[in-house]
Amino acid sequence: MKKIIIIGAGIGGLSAGIYGLKAGFDAEIYEMHTVPGGECTGWNRDGYHFDSCIHWLTGTKKDTQLYKMWCEVGALDNVEIYNHDYFTCYEKEGKKVYIYRDIEKLRTHLLDISPEDKNQIEELCNYTKRFQTCYVPADKPQDMMNFFDFLKMIKNMKSVLPLMSKLNKITVKEYLSRFKSSLIRGALLSSIMIDYYSSTALFFTLSTFTADNGGWPRGGSLAMSKRMAKRFEDLGGKITYGAKVGKIIVENNTATGIELLDGRIVKGDYIISATDADVTLSELLQNKYKDKKFEIMYSNPQDYPLPNCVQVSLGVNEDLSHIPHCISFPTTPFDIGGKVIDSLVIKHYYYEPDFAPKGKSVINCVLTNCDYDFWKKKRENISEYKAAKAEVAEEVMIRIVERFPELLGKFEVIDVTTPVTYERYCGAYRGAWMSFAITPKGKFISHSGILKGLNNFYMAGQWTLFPGGLPSALVSGKFAVQRICKNEKVPASLHLH
Ligand SMILES: Cc1cc2nc3c(=O)[nH]c(=O)nc-3n(C[C@H](O)[C@H](O)[C@H](O)COP(=O)(O)OP(=O)(O)OC[C@H]3O[C@@H](n4cnc5c(N)ncnc54)[C@H](O)[C@@H]3O)c2cc1C
Repeated sequence: MKKIIIIGAGIGGLSAGIYGLKAGFDAEIYEMHTVPGGECTGWNRDGYHFDSCIHWLTGTKKDTQLYKMWCEVGALDNVEIYNHDYFTCYEKEGKKVYIYRDIEKLRTHLLDISPEDKNQIEELCNYTKRFQTCYVPADKPQDMMNFFDFLKMIKNMKSVLPLMSKLNKITVKEYLSRFKSSLIRGALLSSIMIDYYSSTALFFTLSTFTADNGGWPRGGSLAMSKRMAKRFEDLGGKITYGAKVGKIIVENNTATGIELLDGRIVKGDYIISATDADVTLSELLQNKYKDKKFEIMYSNPQDYPLPNCVQVSLGVNEDLSHIPHCISFPTTPFDIGGKVIDSLVIKHYYYEPDFAPKGKSVINCVLTNCDYDFWKKKRENISEYKAAKAEVAEEVMIRIVERFPELLGKFEVIDVTTPVTYERYCGAYRGAWMSFAITPKGKFISHSGILKGLNNFYMAGQWTLFPGGLPSALVSGKFAVQRICKNEKVPASLHLH
């Protein structure tokens, strides 16, 4: 039986491992951490659990292909899914706008808020409905598709293709500027959080949510990652934790194994690297394999920006179940390393009783697009770094108390992650929480995961299917195994279900 060695036990690596075993290979995963999941994680602090990933999980609707795949890898089978009535609530000057899951309710609500935006609201809802029929292509990688596969894909996307080409040309920000109501603009922006994406991203997000396909799996991110790791091990796979890979061994332009930082060597027939792409290319392969697509993307941050974030998690001695589970509001501005923050999006988890002791709550606040270089510089001096983190937490808490005065003095546990946290713990390039953004100027939407001149090697993970996210990581793992099956002349379709 041929052996696949997988580097990284994030969602991409776990997916590759599970599909590898299902396809009849031996599979071993080497992960530098002590837990599975990579960026799909959470941690305990003094009686609280801070979830650090899932806001919504695309693929929670039962009759979709992604749902089937999440079940195949053990992430969702027999797992309760929460579908909130509204995705987010935006509040300004005492008025509230809800982004409802029910599209007709959303339409009526937005029309009540801003009748003068009638045409724009009708368009938004109609486009959203059209996008509901469009799913992430997950059958097989594009480089393995034949004429009929392309035809099928185009047929599936027929109703949205002309729309996509129109919406891809403008950013979320440009699209939102067409609304007269600042309330509606604020509400829609807070649901996607990043305004430089192509505006198709807004419709993918809204359509996912309004089609009941973006729920919350019970237990959250780390629990989901652990279920996948269990599925992998139950199928006979082996995960070695605390095993940082230093190098991919290449002989005669063929990947033949890995060398761990402690000097151990492990040989295999195929290597799948499911780490951050920069780690793979510059560290594990020591820049020996040049790749045009990645070079273009890394050297053009204007066209291929990388989203990052600072995340403030708070353990609060107060039951927050009476306030919206996700609420955003403008605040008095504050500055983090030159980046001005003038609104907050805060989330709490009343629906997860185990995240906080009884009668208490967890608040999570994500501040997007922070300055990586600012945090990197601060990290050179650990006390300055800690002070900067404490300062951000303080600014956030002040503004939360401005909005919810009853929370004064109720913050018991404070935890802050920065882009440097994701860099240190997951190897994420410049602390990115997703991969290359799809913008009007960027050309690429995927990478084959194959490096020219290097045999028996494949990349997986969110860096091969842009703009990343959990579904991309999941699908990329299966795609890597399909490519191996093709190389081995094994009919993948017989095994990968
Ligand atoms: C705050 C936050 C919120 C998010 N919200 C959402 C959301 O709501 N919905 C969504 O779909 N996505 C969300 N994402 C994105 C999602 O988490 C990622 O897209 C996904 O987890 C990436 O998976 P991956 O397997 O590609 O990579 P990673 O998770 O980065 O996994 C890579 C793994 O490789 C390991 N590794 C790296 N280098 C080495 C080495 N040398 N040796 C051994 N192991 C190594 C790392 O430790 C890690 O475990 C969010 C991310 C963050 C940070």
